[in-house]
Amino acid sequence: MSVFDAAMRQLAASDLSVDPAVFERLKRAQRIVDVEFPVQMDNGITQFFHGYRVQWNNAIGPYKGGMRFHPQVDVDEVKALSFWMTLKCALVNIPFGGGKGGVKIDPKTLSRDELERLTRSFTRAISDVIGPERDVPAPDVNTTPQIMDWMSDEYSKIVGFPTPAVVTGKSIAHGGSEGRSTATGMGAYIVFKAFRSHLGMDPETATITVQGFGNAGQEIARLFYHHGYAVVAVSDSHGALHNENGLDIPALIEIKKKTGRLSAPVSTREISNESLLRIPCGVFVPSALEGVIMPEVAEEIEAKVILEVANGPTTPEADSILQKRGVVVIPDILANAGGVTVSYLEWEQNRINEHWEEHEVMTRMEAIMRDAAQAVLDMAKKHTITFRQAAFHIAVERLAAAIAKQYV
Ligand code: NAD
Repeated sequence: MSVFDAAMRQLAASDLSVDPAVFERLKRAQRIVDVEFPVQMDNGITQFFHGYRVQWNNAIGPYKGGMRFHPQVDVDEVKALSFWMTLKCALVNIPFGGGKGGVKIDPKTLSRDELERLTRSFTRAISDVIGPERDVPAPDVNTTPQIMDWMSDEYSKIVGFPTPAVVTGKSIAHGGSEGRSTATGMGAYIVFKAFRSHLGMDPETATITVQGFGNAGQEIARLFYHHGYAVVAVSDSHGALHNENGLDIPALIEIKKKTGRLSAPVSTREISNESLLRIPCGVFVPSALEGVIMPEVAEEIEAKVILEVANGPTTPEADSILQKRGVVVIPDILANAGGVTVSYLEWEQNRINEHWEEHEVMTRMEAIMRDAAQAVLDMAKKHTITFRQAAFHIAVERLAAAIAKQYV
């Protein structure tokens, strides 16, 4: 099953009672932009690359969502991610619709100059469909504040005046917000805290496993470690590390920063990425790519809770199995919404030409995330449904109200 089919299965499984016209609208993108754009490589030869921007729905506000640079990017994946962004923004109640983009490339194969030329050429190729009031890209897998700075600069040149609000996730020097780089991990921890008493988890008993040690994975691992939880296993695309007494997460972050990969300090066991999925733990935190929790993994996983920091890590069949086995899933559209929430705060700061202190950004973000988590807990309790179904219900209700107004 493709990622997009999985996303549509989730929508169907949410058992929503909305106007059929609204439901049909939610199943379709409003626009799919598919571009082939040229990049001059360091050897002087021009190569063409393939990129997408999918604009799912803007009933609530401008399309909003990341740009992914990855060899597996395809239109099906970008459609799914853009659909999830639409629900996520509606769920946390920020004035954005949903979109997503990507370029089919492994950026590690490019020099810095090639990466800059690729980013600028892609920005030119999609410049007529993005803009602060139209569609606001952000970082995602393999895209960085530097890449966002290039996008903002290129777009500003095209329109003829500085337009930092065209993208979020920029560096602080170029109009980025305090707290953006840690926002996704921080948001996930705030959500976990809101669910904690319901889950009966505390640092003395709950151990943590984190799959993916990039922007989001490192921060959530650091926060669990900082709050006294034993983070017993982490992984990146090269491999996984395990120590049943808990890993030294700050040391691993340093190693990853210096060498670009995880390597084992003393008293840490190297294990396969496959076996990481089966380590007994209190909370499993997928923070890499979609579709990793498949039925066979769901049958064997020994976690009590899955905190979905990655987008779409659990397939619909696996979701049903987890539900039957009593494994609690805190869904992606809630768990990883801290990133887009601080993106929204960055966009606001850019539009009124202000720069807020980190404390102010975090206070606002925490309030938004706590409200969304509480709403999901209340909705799930009221209707005796899963947290994913509850999150979908809240988001779709808000979207339905906004879409209905467009049809008048
Ligand atoms: P990133 O590129 O910074 O990190 C991804 C990490 O996953 C890397 O450490 C990579 O080595 C690892 N990885 C890739 N394949 C793996 C595998 N098979 N097994 C184990 N590790 C693997 O990306 P990110 O920004 O941290 O995003 C990670 C996930 O979080 C994605 O699903 C993304 O859509 C989601 N997300 C990110 C943000 C954000 O603000 N960064 C916001 C919302 C959601």
